[in-house]
Amino acid sequence: MVTYLRNVWSGLWTTIVGMSITARYLFRRPVTVQYPDEKLPISDRYRGIHYLEQDKCIYCFQCARACPVDCISMEATRVGKELDWKAFTIDYNKCIFCELCVYPCPADCIHMGKEFAFVVYDRRELVLDLLSEKGLSPPAKERHAKAEAEKKAKAAAAAAAKAAAPAPPKQAPDSKEGGPPAAEAEASMKEPEPPKT
Ligand code: SF4
Ligand code: SF4
Repeated sequence: MVTYLRNVWSGLWTTIVGMSITARYLFRRPVTVQYPDEKLPISDRYRGIHYLEQDKCIYCFQCARACPVDCISMEATRVGKELDWKAFTIDYNKCIFCELCVYPCPADCIHMGKEFAFVVYDRRELVLDLLSEKGLSPPAKERHAKAEAEKKAKAAAAAAAKAAAPAPPKQAPDSKEGGPPAAEAEASMKEPEPPKT
C-alpha cells in the first residue's frame, strides 16, 4: 500500500514539474527557427561553399596546387590578355573545407562562402562549377573587340599608305652591261650612206 501511494505521488510530482516547465515557456517568445525560411546568423569565419571572383582570377593554378585532395580543376584559353573560360570546378565529394586553396591565391579571388545547403540526389552533381559565366566576360569581350578593331584599322591604314605611295622609277638599261644605249642602237640599225664622189 505504501509503495502504491509512493508511485502515485511520484507520478503526480513529475507531472507537476513537467507542466511547470511548460508553463514557464508558454509566455516566452518562441525560439524555433523556421528553416529554410529563417536562418540563424553564420559566423564570419564559417567555411561554406566556395565562391569565385571570376573577373579577378588569372588562371595561375595556385589554388589547385595547394588543395590537399586535388579537387579543383579549371580550363580556360588565353585570348591575348583575356581569358576565355570553359570551367572552374570543385568536387565536393572530396573537398574537406580546409581553406588551404584560399591563402595562396595571388589575386584574392577564391573565398569560402557562407552557403552550406548543398543537397543533391546524385553524387555527380556535387561537382560544382564556380564560373558565373563561360567564355570571355563582357568587359573582356569589349576590350578584345576594341583591340581587334584597332588592329584592323592599322592594317587598313598601312595598306592604303602602300597603295598611295608613288611607283619607283624604272631603271634605264645599263650601257656597259645591257649593250649600247638606245640612240646608239638605233644608229647602228641604219644602213651606211654610200661615199660621195
Ligand atoms: S577547401 Fe581544402 S579541400 Fe576544399 S577545395 Fe579548398 S583546398 Fe581543396
Ligand atoms: S589561385 Fe586564385 S587566381 Fe590563381 S587560379 Fe586559383 S582562383 Fe584563380
